[in-house]
Amino acid sequence: MDFQGLTGKVITPLDKEYQILRLEYNRDINKFPLAIVYCYNNIDVSNAIKWCRKNDISLRIRTGGHNYEGYSTSNGALILDTTYMNNVEIDEKNDIVKIQAGARLGKVYSELAKKGYAFAGGTCPTVGISGLTLGGGIGLSCRNFGLTADNLVELEIINANGASITANNQENPKLFWACRGAGGGNFGVATSYIFKTQKVNKITAIELRWDNESREDFLELWQYWLKTADKRISCFAGFNKEGIYLNGFFYGTKTEAKLILKDFLSLPNLLENSSIEYVAFIDAIKNIGAFYDPPNKFKATGRFVYKPLSRKDIRKLVQYIDNSPGTVECFIRLYSLGGAIDDIPNNHTAYYYRKAEYILGITTGWEEDEDAYEYKNWVEKVFKFVKPLTNGSYVNFPYAELADYGYEYYGKNYYLLKEVKKLYDPTNFFKFQQSISPH
Ligand SMILES: Cc1cc2nc3c(=O)[nH]c(=O)nc-3n(C[C@H](O)[C@H](O)[C@H](O)COP(=O)(O)OP(=O)(O)OC[C@H]3O[C@@H](n4cnc5c(N)ncnc54)[C@H](O)[C@@H]3O)c2cc1C
Repeated sequence: MDFQGLTGKVITPLDKEYQILRLEYNRDINKFPLAIVYCYNNIDVSNAIKWCRKNDISLRIRTGGHNYEGYSTSNGALILDTTYMNNVEIDEKNDIVKIQAGARLGKVYSELAKKGYAFAGGTCPTVGISGLTLGGGIGLSCRNFGLTADNLVELEIINANGASITANNQENPKLFWACRGAGGGNFGVATSYIFKTQKVNKITAIELRWDNESREDFLELWQYWLKTADKRISCFAGFNKEGIYLNGFFYGTKTEAKLILKDFLSLPNLLENSSIEYVAFIDAIKNIGAFYDPPNKFKATGRFVYKPLSRKDIRKLVQYIDNSPGTVECFIRLYSLGGAIDDIPNNHTAYYYRKAEYILGITTGWEEDEDAYEYKNWVEKVFKFVKPLTNGSYVNFPYAELADYGYEYYGKNYYLLKEVKKLYDPTNFFKFQQSISPH
């Protein structure tokens, strides 16, 4: 293949780094792209798009490579990787930050923390700012500050002709709307973002652990508690065969946090390694980030919950966990929503399921390829049970087996998204297995 015309750093199967650089964070994805082009600037991005069009090669856009289903790679495609475009430029006068598309969350948080700012991002330090923001972005500040995408004020995107477009509420507002919840890989290559930011000093970091005895009571309490919970608190929780965890950030004091969490704190068998501490925002971020494993093989997805699950359904979920393969690999996970997220109407951005109370995640991982089928099959069984009880799927927790994915990810916004696609990518150049088509 002739790579003439591509600029930036090109890695082909002949380079020894190719075998590592072709991989996604999810090591179950095992694709062989034609080449990877690491772009340093918008011109490299534009050249990659033009080169693909000229040579009739499909393009995949990659930032952190954390897409669960590996939609940032494909056999025979050119991967356009934004990793080296990763500046974080803070404008303290206006409390805004310009972040280039390739930045990972760890860098975003630490640069902002140097100037005393928090950021409404996710919890894993190696997730890319691009995939996170373009799909919505939930985290331990989301009930207080909204989604990552809700804090976006502008982005720059390179379109299918290789031209740069600015999108904000005044210029290209439909594209701006679409990129806040449905932008991952669909309309162009985002190259930079401007976000509003919030000054913060200390927050209360919550890490609670229990053994497995009260899992049903825990989930029942979680659902009841979330309905009226203070919007300054956001939590990610869950359970497996062995126990229950709840991690959270509270934008207030430790005493207030304990009061807000009193019903959880009185559940039996709270373990000694539990803690509630008033710490610097960046320390809370680093502690949570440290829980993530290095890249591994996994299958995961999630559903938006609008209506509390009944005790009978909760019991069934716990049974699914108890009958899951392995020892501690299968989890039901809970991600709090509401608060600032549902202060915004459903049609204000492409992120649709704003009235959901939480996301119910189904996740598992394994080491040996021969075990993959059993674990994936478990996810499928639980998914089939949960689907009729819930209302849609979060595009950043994608599921390749999801039928009618357009409606499931974007609800009624899907039809408008197709119109935006017609306007900005009428030839459907930006496409992948679950992309938005103009037709
Ligand atoms: C360990 C782990 C922890 C996670 N934690 C959270 C969390 O706390 N909160 C949360 O909301 N989500 C979380 N997620 C999900 C995460 O938000 C999504 O996987 C997200 O899409 C990852 O973005 P990425 O840039 O790393 O991935 P990539 O795989 O590089 O990209 C994801 C998608 O966006 C597209 N894309 C990438 N870059 C661009 C670009 N510059 N322009 C246009 N399209 C682009 C890709 O083509 C792909 O379709 C987590 C995922 C993992 C694996």
